[in-house]
Amino acid sequence: KKKIAVMTSGGDSPGMNGAVRAVVRMAIHKGCDAYCIYEGYEGLVRGGDLIRKMDWHDVRGWLSEGGTLIGTARCMAFYERPGRLKAAKNMILNGIDALIICGGDGSLTGADRFRAEWPSLIDELVTKGELTKEQVTPYRHLNIVGLVGSIDNDLSGTDATIGSYSALARICEMVDYIEATASSHSRAFVVEVMGRHCGWLALMAGVATGADFVFIPERPREKDWRDEMVAVVRRHREMGKRKTIVIVAEGALDKDGVKITPAEIKDLLANKDEGGLALDTRITTLGHVQRGGTAVAYDRMLATLQGVEAVRAVLEATPETETCFIAINENKIVRKPLMQAVAETKEVAKAVESKDFDKAMGLRDTEFSD
Ligand code: ATP
Repeated sequence: KKKIAVMTSGGDSPGMNGAVRAVVRMAIHKGCDAYCIYEGYEGLVRGGDLIRKMDWHDVRGWLSEGGTLIGTARCMAFYERPGRLKAAKNMILNGIDALIICGGDGSLTGADRFRAEWPSLIDELVTKGELTKEQVTPYRHLNIVGLVGSIDNDLSGTDATIGSYSALARICEMVDYIEATASSHSRAFVVEVMGRHCGWLALMAGVATGADFVFIPERPREKDWRDEMVAVVRRHREMGKRKTIVIVAEGALDKDGVKITPAEIKDLLANKDEGGLALDTRITTLGHVQRGGTAVAYDRMLATLQGVEAVRAVLEATPETETCFIAINENKIVRKPLMQAVAETKEVAKAVESKDFDKAMGLRDTEFSD
């Protein structure tokens, strides 16, 4: 009987539980044993009761739950070979030869590294006398499939990551709340949202809430952004708008690569000097509420369809199959090469960090225009 394990790793995102539920139930449906690795790679390294066999009923009611019920952690030990050696031993001791990992680009990089090293890891386990040749023989090939769980929607090669639409919905809901008080008092609000290298949440929240101005990392503002923003807000006010909403991604930069802070934006909107807007301005940092709450319908659907496809990919894989992750492209659930997507994602982050913004923009799937 094939034993398929699933784990969640990196930052939690709504929909991860739906993915775990789908993997567990599809694995059982296909006649396999299903396992959950608790606490991300930490569970794989530590083993013991962090690796648990799952029953059909164990995942009942998980579809709508936010966060991840099997836990997630940042695991330093897995960055080092001795940690991965322990992980390999725990996998074999539990009879697991296929692993489905739901996480961000870091988690998927770790997964690919583990798979690439697998033959040498099991050789080392035999050489060191930790396991016998007979014990490792059935496990010569490790089969890994990735699922992308991230609220940032920052992975190249997929239109949506599990959790991103829930986070977007939460941001919109919060901005709606803020708008009521903004309109009542004719106030301005600067709303900071998550996104260090990826402005998808900020940009789409701007579109979905009709914000006055948006700042994202990939599209740094020209040097005169201050004048531009003040002019736009003034125009909107002159048209009769009683509220002002400016959305800033936490990684927003100007053309020189200098961070644009909510405090600076607030000062500009509140400026009482002659020609200033003199708006009563508040800053709202949404923080972790963006991750919280139940998964929206889209994330439940995405997690379920992709979890099912991940089990199919595991069952159809041969030793020659390239490691894949499950994406959604133009509304179709598809398998794609894992490392290419991770490499492209890292390239965008690097381009933003090195201020090569044209490159960063070119690498994004979403079209931006003025
Ligand atoms: P998020 O999008 O929330 O940042 P992530 O999956 O990118 O999620 P990371 O903290 O980068 O989050 O990675 C999660 C875990 O994956 C790490 O704690 C580590 O255990 C493992 N990992 C990440 N990168 C590597 C790597 N290069 N080699 C081995 N393990 C890694």
